[in-house]
Amino acid sequence: MRHTLFLLLIITYFSASAQINEGIKPIIDTLCSPYFSGRGYVDKGCEKAADFLTTHFNELGFDYKNIYTQEYSFNVNTFPQKMQVVINDSQRLEAGIAYLVDAASAGGHYRRLKTQRLALGSVQSKEQLLQLFKQLNTNHFAYIIDSLDLLAKLLHTNRDLILMRLPKGIFIIPVPKKLTWGVANWHNKACVLYMLESYIPDDFSSIDIDIDQRYIKHSNQKNILALIPGKSDSMLIFSAHYDHLGKMGSTSYFPGASDNASGTAMLLMLAQYYKEKKDNRYTMVFIAFSGEEAGLLGSHYFIEHPLINLNKIKFLTNIDIAGDATNGITVVNGTVFNNQFDLLKIINSQSNLVPEIRSRGKAAISDHFYFSEKNIPSFFIYTNGGKGYYHDIYDQANELSLNNIDNLYNLLIHFYSNL
Ligand SMILES: [Zn+2]
Repeated sequence: MRHTLFLLLIITYFSASAQINEGIKPIIDTLCSPYFSGRGYVDKGCEKAADFLTTHFNELGFDYKNIYTQEYSFNVNTFPQKMQVVINDSQRLEAGIAYLVDAASAGGHYRRLKTQRLALGSVQSKEQLLQLFKQLNTNHFAYIIDSLDLLAKLLHTNRDLILMRLPKGIFIIPVPKKLTWGVANWHNKACVLYMLESYIPDDFSSIDIDIDQRYIKHSNQKNILALIPGKSDSMLIFSAHYDHLGKMGSTSYFPGASDNASGTAMLLMLAQYYKEKKDNRYTMVFIAFSGEEAGLLGSHYFIEHPLINLNKIKFLTNIDIAGDATNGITVVNGTVFNNQFDLLKIINSQSNLVPEIRSRGKAAISDHFYFSEKNIPSFFIYTNGGKGYYHDIYDQANELSLNNIDNLYNLLIHFYSNL
């Protein structure tokens, strides 16, 4: 088996450009620029990114008849304008740096609420917790909630379910180290702030809040698919999600360089490669999904309403977080599709590409998931490296090293040419 593989590799080995980063970088820079507003739901960020992708595929030589736009919609909670938090009458906190508003949070306008710690130590049941919530005086107090996760664990529930039960009012959850944001397709009664402990003064006594929130029903979104017909109608697919978290207030946005402008740029570079190659044995398909950060909603819609014959998919590789492969890559589904994983490893060691390939089992953490649930052979590949910026305002284009990204690109092409 290995011997046969080796022969195949010699036949199909070729030298893809090592200058790939020069193509990837400007795409990442563009997608992370303020114009795209973090590719979310404020200022039409996602919509602009979809237009950019369609145009880019067309510029690569894809005929419009081979570029498909799939429209669908979902509900999403947004913070389009005012986002102002002032503590102790005078100290204005910066959105994204000192605090985040919970993705499912309500907005609100509150003046000089006194702060009070919410004593949850005695709560032993969900009923007691709900009773406690009923007694709160949210017209006068902003409540600081410590150890929310501990409480959730004790009550065998999760943080989101507790936040859903909070009454209208202001709640502050201190966070020791890192703020991490998300997208919610529901909205709560309470306005919940995650505040970095380093920004909470010992004499924290009052808070003023001005937060505009808007719940958008049926926000229209698009999956973009581009296709190159091959000698066979059997398909090899690359996918990447192009949406991110968007804006939190009018000034803070989440560029999502690593997650997932990097994977989107890789998708476009691969599309360029196969478009220029012309004589593709398989039909090559490139899918840019939206709605991933809102809960894999784009790929879920796609699998329920496929634009292609799912039975013809020979393999799908989803790329999400591909900005720094200093420590190699991880392959989700590596332990599920063993033969393909072995092939990937052999190619990598023979061509000396990325330093390490780790393997994981199945995981519902990106857009490969619904494909592999339908037994379609598929990997989700992410890179290991970088500074750990994730779902925060620091995930910026200039923070990506792009180490070994050219090697990842070569690895993916070699892998597909040997399938
Ligand atoms: Zn992602």
